[in-house]
Amino acid sequence: MDTLARAAALLQAHRFPVIEGLEDFSQVPTRQFESPAGVALPPQLICSADVVRHAVSQAEAAHRQGQWRNAERVARKNVLLRWADLLQSHTEELALLDCVQTGRSLQNFTRHSIPKGIEALRWFAELADKTEDRSLAEGHVPGFLTIMRREPLGVVAAIVPWNDPLVVFIWKVAPALLCGNAVVVKPSEHAFHSLALAVKLAHEAGLPFGQLQLVTGDGSTGAALVREPAVACISFTGSSATGKWIAAEASRDRLKRVSLECGGKSGFLVSNRSRKIDEAASCLAKNAFYNQGQICSAPTRAYVHAEVFERFMVRLSAEANRYAPSHPLTGQTGVGYMIHREAVKRVNQALVDAAQRGHRPALSAEAVDPERCIHPSLFVDIPEHDPLASQELFGPVLIVNRVTSMDEAVHRANDSAFGLAAGIWTDDLDEAMSVSARLQTGTVHVNSYGEDGNQIPFGGIKDSGIGKEKSVDTLSSYSHVKSVCIRLSPGDVP
Ligand code: NAD
Repeated sequence: MDTLARAAALLQAHRFPVIEGLEDFSQVPTRQFESPAGVALPPQLICSADVVRHAVSQAEAAHRQGQWRNAERVARKNVLLRWADLLQSHTEELALLDCVQTGRSLQNFTRHSIPKGIEALRWFAELADKTEDRSLAEGHVPGFLTIMRREPLGVVAAIVPWNDPLVVFIWKVAPALLCGNAVVVKPSEHAFHSLALAVKLAHEAGLPFGQLQLVTGDGSTGAALVREPAVACISFTGSSATGKWIAAEASRDRLKRVSLECGGKSGFLVSNRSRKIDEAASCLAKNAFYNQGQICSAPTRAYVHAEVFERFMVRLSAEANRYAPSHPLTGQTGVGYMIHREAVKRVNQALVDAAQRGHRPALSAEAVDPERCIHPSLFVDIPEHDPLASQELFGPVLIVNRVTSMDEAVHRANDSAFGLAAGIWTDDLDEAMSVSARLQTGTVHVNSYGEDGNQIPFGGIKDSGIGKEKSVDTLSSYSHVKSVCIRLSPGDVP
């Protein structure tokens, strides 16, 4: 079977919601979307509030019944490890589904994104029987033994974007399950087929059905899930605008726990005390233009010391051209297309508006398919209040500013509504420490960018979000700590 026929068969096989007790979806309305890769997509079912309520009530029932919540930790670990093995054996299908739905390159999904999601799942699975509840012996609070038990919250709503579907899905679902919760997933309308397959594989691995379900649909389905009274926690990744709406809605009738991973406009600082100017330039090009710039933590504002600026720009311009997009199913560079035509139009309009304000790109070119993708573009010396610098474009547009000191670089990098990530290149450890302490972001990379393993917390401040993904820190988003204070009889205390 050729690739297109295989993609069509997989899209058909994994096009339905995965909800316990519901198999007939003939009454559910549909919406037609277009594949950036030019493959015919089946109409997508847009789950209504009633369908969402059914999924949530099944999740509640599974949680109450307690088969998963009360299972031995090693048993939960084994289910998650089996799930990881099954996902790995379906890497090619998962990658193909995500490629044809999102336009990101097949090579990129197969080699990087899907393996990264599976590795994250294995990391969380291994954590399942290694976390311990804390306790205070009687000497701390005289006459009392206190146990701090980490307990699940109940039903978790996991709302996922399209740009790295399996990775973000695992970052939410694995720790939520590890804490003993039941999860209802709402994938993006632009990337759900692969996650429908992933959820079915979890059941095959031994996870009770109601413990993990998936509703398909657009923002209206996500909003219905957010509003469900039985949802105890909303873990969202997506734009800051949607994140703010969810934060307000989550406190309307009852207080629901929220974890929000939102947008970014990250800074990349290069000091005159760095001797790795070429390496810094190629690192910036890779991270700014990878996946057509559709990465939340992409560094899109660079601040380069004037003494090294010219050399930096020569290398950066050469490197940027290496990230020219090509058709996602055949791409040689690993960079595919933008998510949809509207995103291409939105970014192109921002470039037209910038030209009207007098900003000319230092680098730009016609893309191979101008309705589907955008060639990397570079702008020089754009002030922070300009929309090119202040708004998240989520496209391959990079600003490089000349600065005369690292103090100026830090001040300007912090002059942003966002606070997701940043990078500083310097050979001076004192400068690295001082700059990283002053940058207002969730992560700072020194002499690198984006290289943070599963044990490193990830998440922003300011409009970039609330809470952390990955690492043991993320467990706080999906659990609460109950303090059990046991008064001991005088005879019990030695
Ligand atoms: P989006 O906000 O449009 O959608 C994200 C998800 O929310 C989708 O599943 C969507 O259907 C759903 N949704 C939309 N409106 C909703 C509502 N009112 N209630 C509930 N759910 C709703 O974002 P997107 O276009 O899918 O993703 C791109 C954005 O995500 C960018 O801003 C990017 O920076 C951000 N992002 C952040 C991170 C991070 O970890 N910080 C990671 C990836 C993407």
